[in-house]
Amino acid sequence: MSFSGKVVIVTGSSRGIGKSIALAFAKGGASVVISGRSQANLNEVQKEIEAARTKSLAVIADVANADEAKMMIEKTIDTFGRIDILVNNAGITRDNLLFRLSEEDWDAVLDTNLKGAFNCIKAAARPMMKNKGGVIINITSVVGQTGNAGQANYAASKAGMIGLTKSVAKELASRNIRSNAVAPGFIITDMTENLNEKVREDLIKSIPLGSLGSVEDVADLVLFLSSDKAKYITGQVINVDGGMVM
Ligand code: NAP
Repeated sequence: MSFSGKVVIVTGSSRGIGKSIALAFAKGGASVVISGRSQANLNEVQKEIEAARTKSLAVIADVANADEAKMMIEKTIDTFGRIDILVNNAGITRDNLLFRLSEEDWDAVLDTNLKGAFNCIKAAARPMMKNKGGVIINITSVVGQTGNAGQANYAASKAGMIGLTKSVAKELASRNIRSNAVAPGFIITDMTENLNEKVREDLIKSIPLGSLGSVEDVADLVLFLSSDKAKYITGQVINVDGGMVM
C-alpha cells in the first residue's frame, strides 16, 4: 500500500504498537509525525523512519493536555502543511481491583486514553476539513468490549473510545473524514511483558488462534483501514485478537 504524499500522525509512537504503525507508514512512503511524553526512544524511532527515506517529525506532547495536543497538530501543519491520517494510539494502564482503584489512577487512564484521543481529534478535524478529507484511527482494546477484572478504568476508557469513534464517524462523514477503531487482543509489547508465566499460559489457552499477537499484526490492519481500500468503511471497530472476541 502506498502512502506517498500523505502526512500521518501516530501518538505514542516511541515504542510498542505505535512505533510499529509509524514504521509501517514510513515504509509506505508517508511523512510521519511521531510523539510521546519523553524524548526517550523517539530519536531511535526517527532514525529508523529516516532509513526508509521518508520525512519525519518528532514532537514531545502529552495528549492528555489539550494545549500540547494542539501544539502537536500545529507543528505538523507548520512542517508538512496538512494532516491526512491521525492514529490515536497513546495509552496507559493503571490496573487495580475496584475497591483499591484510586481516583488518581482512574483520572490518569481516562485522561490519557479517552480525553487524549478527543484532544487530538478536535485539533486535527479542522485541518482535515480544510483538506477535504482525512482518516482517524483510534486504538481501543478487546477489553473495551468485554470488560476485565482489575481494569475498570482501562476498560471504561477503551469503551469510551468506541463511542467517540462512532460519533466522530457520524459527524464528519459528510466532510469525507472516516473514523474507525482497531481493537487489539493481547499483543507482545512493554504493556504486556510483565504477565507471569501462569497468566500467559491461561491467556494463550483462551485465544482460538493459540498465540499472542505481534505489533505488526496491528499495524497491518491500521494501514488497511487508512488506505483507499477501506474508503467505504467508517464507524467500525475491527478486532485483531486471534479470535478472542467473536
Ligand atoms: P506501550 O508499549 O506502553 O507504549 C505506549 C506509548 O504511548 C508510548 O510511546 C508512550 O510514550 C505513549 N504515551 C503514554 N502516555 C502518553 C501520553 N499521555 N501522551 C503521549 N504519549 C503517551 O503500549 P502498547 O502496548 O504499544 O499499546 C499501544 C496502544 O494499544 C495503547 O492505547 C493500548 O491501550 C493499546 N492496546 C495494547 C494492547 C497490548 O496487548 N499491548 C492490547 C490492546 C490495546 P511515553 O511513555 O514517552 O509517553
